[in-house]
Amino acid sequence: MVQEHENIVGFDSAILMHPTVWKASGHVGNFIDVMVEDTITKERFRYDTLSDVQREQNLSPNGNPLSEPKNFNLMFSTSLGSTEESSMKVYLRPETAQGIYVNFKNVQQTSRLKLPFGIAQVGKAFRNELLFKNFIFRTCEFEQMEMQFFVHPQEDTKWFEHWKQLRMQYYKDIGIRESHLRFHEHRPDELAHYAKEACDVFYHFPFGWNEIEGIHNRSNFDLTQHSEFSKKDLSYQPEEGEKFIPCIIETSAGLTRTVLLVLCDAYRVEEIEGSARTVLQLHPRLAPYTIAVLPLVKKDGLAERAKQLFLSLQKEYSCAFDVNTSIGKRYRRQDEIGTPLCLTYDYDSLTDSSVTIRQRDTLKQERVAIHKINQYISDYVKTYGVDNA
Ligand code: ATP
Repeated sequence: MVQEHENIVGFDSAILMHPTVWKASGHVGNFIDVMVEDTITKERFRYDTLSDVQREQNLSPNGNPLSEPKNFNLMFSTSLGSTEESSMKVYLRPETAQGIYVNFKNVQQTSRLKLPFGIAQVGKAFRNELLFKNFIFRTCEFEQMEMQFFVHPQEDTKWFEHWKQLRMQYYKDIGIRESHLRFHEHRPDELAHYAKEACDVFYHFPFGWNEIEGIHNRSNFDLTQHSEFSKKDLSYQPEEGEKFIPCIIETSAGLTRTVLLVLCDAYRVEEIEGSARTVLQLHPRLAPYTIAVLPLVKKDGLAERAKQLFLSLQKEYSCAFDVNTSIGKRYRRQDEIGTPLCLTYDYDSLTDSSVTIRQRDTLKQERVAIHKINQYISDYVKTYGVDNA
């Protein structure tokens, strides 16, 4: 989002911010989950996840009566100040976006940015979530990857469409199966208080379709609110014409949740020649190791020579080195952790200065000259998935 867009800059804002920021944003008043409890099993449900029939009949998904709905604010608070009397209640940010809005003018002026432009940030967010399920899908402390794109008010709908398409493409580019991705458009009655248009990217997790990213046309709501509450002018002065308050298109993705979806999407157990093979079919750009260097055996100087290769490849690629157990078991170990390529240094390597490179996905093995290994890896990563597109 930053490196490949000349009009987007990276940013890192504070986690603790003045409470007025959260009043202006609407979080103090509106960042609420409505919860109900099954009066028999004591299980809790988010009211908005119940069906219309369940709400009308006031019954839980287990068929038992529900308690009265209760509001819960999702923000964590702490206090700032040396004494109890003088301390002030502050909030841990529940999203990274507001840190970008309140710094909008600083960033725009110091980076000399002209509309349209974006500010992106990756960082921790905290929410006092009441329901946890499904591993790291929902946690109290998680990371977000957000980008706020500032545009002229007459161009908001155009840019909203633009970012929707680009963000969907992002998931395809990191190798996620297209059949497991879809948009969920918000109906007018589903829209958050700040949104003019909104759409989520949904992924088909093993536990059902769920949101991974929200894309919102936030109109000029945020900068108008922060201008009013801070008494600072956050309008933009174009080279020609009147100044105005920019509109914002937001792309808000969960990094932690994306890790879960990448793992779910990549994991498979296949049958190969009568035995099961567990594979994490990660895109090479996401795999923890790009290549594993494996001497065929430890003895006869193979391990030492393979180690030399490993040390030189490590300067350019993330590499694993493994000498223990049979070569077959070591291949399977790398398959399980998603390493796309394995390089084997064998007896022939001593005389022909070549190695065998095995591909995780196809199990294809090729003999590659040592001086061509870097080119082989780089071509493999660059063209990965192109044939299947
Ligand atoms: P949900 O409906 O799942 O609670 P949300 O609509 O409140 O999500 P946003 O406020 O739009 O989520 O946040 C943007 C992204 O941040 C979400 O799409 C999700 O990927 C991630 N996210 C939000 N809350 C959590 C959480 N508690 N744990 C992990 N990721 C989260």
